Order: sequence, then C-alpha cells, then structure tokens
Amino acid sequence: MFNSDGMHVLDVQSGHRKLVITVETEAAVTGCPSCGDVATGHGRRRVRAADAPCFGVAVLLIWLKRVWRCVETDCPQLTWSETHELVGTRAVLTSRAVVWAVDALAHDDTTVSALARHLRVDWHTLWRAIKADATDRISRPGRLTGVRTLGVDEHIWRPGQFRANERAVTSMVDLTRDADGRLHARLLDVRPGRSGTVYAGWLGEQTKDFIDAVEHAALDPFRGYANAIRDELPDAVAVLDAFHVVRLGTQALDEVRRRVQQDTLGHRGMKHDPLYKIRGLLRHGVENLTERQITKLNTCLEAGDPDWAVTVAWQCYQQLRQAYATKGKAGREIAEKIIASFPSCPIPEVARLGRTLRQWRQQVLAYFDTSGVSNGGTEAINLLIEKTRRLAHGFRNFNNYRLRILLVADGSRDYRRQ
Ligand SMILES: [Zn+2]
Repeated sequence: MFNSDGMHVLDVQSGHRKLVITVETEAAVTGCPSCGDVATGHGRRRVRAADAPCFGVAVLLIWLKRVWRCVETDCPQLTWSETHELVGTRAVLTSRAVVWAVDALAHDDTTVSALARHLRVDWHTLWRAIKADATDRISRPGRLTGVRTLGVDEHIWRPGQFRANERAVTSMVDLTRDADGRLHARLLDVRPGRSGTVYAGWLGEQTKDFIDAVEHAALDPFRGYANAIRDELPDAVAVLDAFHVVRLGTQALDEVRRRVQQDTLGHRGMKHDPLYKIRGLLRHGVENLTERQITKLNTCLEAGDPDWAVTVAWQCYQQLRQAYATKGKAGREIAEKIIASFPSCPIPEVARLGRTLRQWRQQVLAYFDTSGVSNGGTEAINLLIEKTRRLAHGFRNFNNYRLRILLVADGSRDYRRQ
C-alpha cells in the first residue's frame, strides 16, 4: 500500500489536515562498507520528509532511519546510516513528491505556490527541488533527437521597463510531423535576446547529428534568422512559417482598419463604431463565418468604409488565408498570384505586405513544396508559454522562466486540433 520498494509502514496518525506516516526499511542485516563484516544496529534517526499528498491531505513521512556500527575494533568505519532512493540525504521532500510536483507543473497549469501549499512546504524549498529534477529532465540525452523540421520564433517575456532586446526571447521549436502527419510541436530551448546571432549561437552548440537531421527550417520573416539558417543549416530548406505569413496579413488589415477609422471618425475605435465592432470578425476566415456574421460584416463595412479600403484589404487577407488553406500546387499558384499583385495594390499597407512577401518569395513558396511545413505548432506553443507566464504573474529570473516553459511545452500535451 505504501508503494515504495523495501519500505513498510509502522504507524499512521491523522493530524490536522495531514497524515503522519512512520516507515522503516526492511533491511535486517548489512555488511560494513569498509571491511565487509556483519554490522550491528546503532539505533535510529528520525528523518522527516514531505511525501506526495494522499487521500486528499498532505503526507508527512517519518522514516526511522537505521544507523549501523562496525563490530571490528580496528576498522576505520565507525558508524553509518542506511540510504533509500525515496528520501535523499538531507532531502525535505521525498523523490516521488518532487516527481508529483514537476509532473503537475508540466501538465496541470498550476503554480509552484499552489503545489507548495498542497505539500505543506515552503515555496523556496519546493522550487529548489523542482529545479534540480526539471534540469535533469531537460538535459536527458536524446531529448533533441529526431528533429527534421526546426522552427524559430520570438516573444516578449517581461514588461516594457526593459530595453527591447532584454525583453525578447528567441525560441527553438520542433515542428516535425509524426508518421500519421500529426504535429506535436515541442519547445526545444529558449535564449534571451532576438537576433540572428542568438539563433546561430544556439545552432552552433548543437551536435553534427542534430544539424544533419534538420531538413526544413521554418522561420518568421526576419533577416537575422534567415542568415543564421544559411550559415548554420546550409542543407536545410528555409520555409516561411504559414502562421507568421498570415500574421503579417492580419497586421496589415488591422493597420488599414485603424487608419480608415481615424480618417472617417477622427478618433480611435470605440464601442459603437462600425469598424471597431467587426475588428475580430475581419480576422476570421470567410469560410468559418455564419450567415449572421457575414450580414454584420457587410452592414458595418457599408457604414464605416466609404472608400472600400478595409474591404479591399480584407479581400487580400482572405486570399492569403486561401493560399494556405489550399496547400500543394494549387496553393502555390494562389501564393504566386499574391506575390505578383499585392506590391502594386493601391492600399499602401497591402502594397507593403506585398513587397515583404516578394522579398521572401523563395521561402514563402517553399511552404507549398514541402507539404505544409508547420502551421499552428508555433502558435500552440506560444499560447502555452503565455498561459504559464500569466499563471506565475510574470517572471524575473530568465533561467526559472526557461525551465518552466520547457516543462510545459515539451510536446506531451494534447494541443487543439490543427
Ligand atoms: Zn568494518
């Protein structure tokens, strides 16, 4: 019932919202580690450690740890105490309590302080133990094997009082599909800063086997990353991530909407402004809209978009989505049309988007030749990272941040369907 090899329960007491369980090992005879003679008992020490919660309450373990003595008079070894994997030397938590806590952080959207409360230990005590176990998990050999599609992305991890480069984080993501074509995106590592040098530096630390295995390198439209891929992953095909391209489209559309809003009404969008009302709807794929939503879209555009700028930008955006929804050869044809036509669009925001896509033509079109590298994987990871940051009310220490998000986004969770 105690579920730990070589230990059994001597006594169970129920305290205030906790169980106090007294245990001992089954070792009856042992030899002296120095001379090998049979040792004799030299009393017990009471060792206390918090165990994983049980029956809905915290568990305090009291281990009557045996102390042994050598009977040989001229043996250098006088006394020693027994060991057991459940409670390490000077540990305040049992090893399974630590595994329980680290698993909870990885899978249950919880916080260190919540877990510390369940275990009835101090936050720092628990975090120290979690840190050691999580570091072990992350440095397991083989964690980085099998990456055929490597993605790179960046996000902001701390607020605006820091300089831009101190706020940004570059993240490396495994976007390899399994045999059934499913994507279990996982976060491989993060590095502070956002630059090609940061990414190239991380790639430089990887083994030759890792570099050789990467066939596709997905990226967002940022020159630094493209250069790092060219230098450090010379054999990989660089592919502009669909998620990032569509995000560029969303940004252009938002800019047009805000500009027209300002030009027509002279102020930023407010609750009853027609364009403001449809700011969310505009971003959806038209194929997902209901009859009612389409009517709302039409009514609001009619009221708020006299020169059709938002409408045209919206149509361009839908075309971009359409290319990625189509995939393969037909998708590539749509993308080629977009790259040819957007740069001369009369809407300046769309024209700028077109010029960006034209500069990245090769990496944009590579997406359609590689049976859809990534898509949504990066986004799924970013959502998990964001959630972790919110749960913790932000992080101050980058190393702690890195450990926490690597635990959460290790690819073992079921992401939303992609
Ligand atoms: Zn001895």
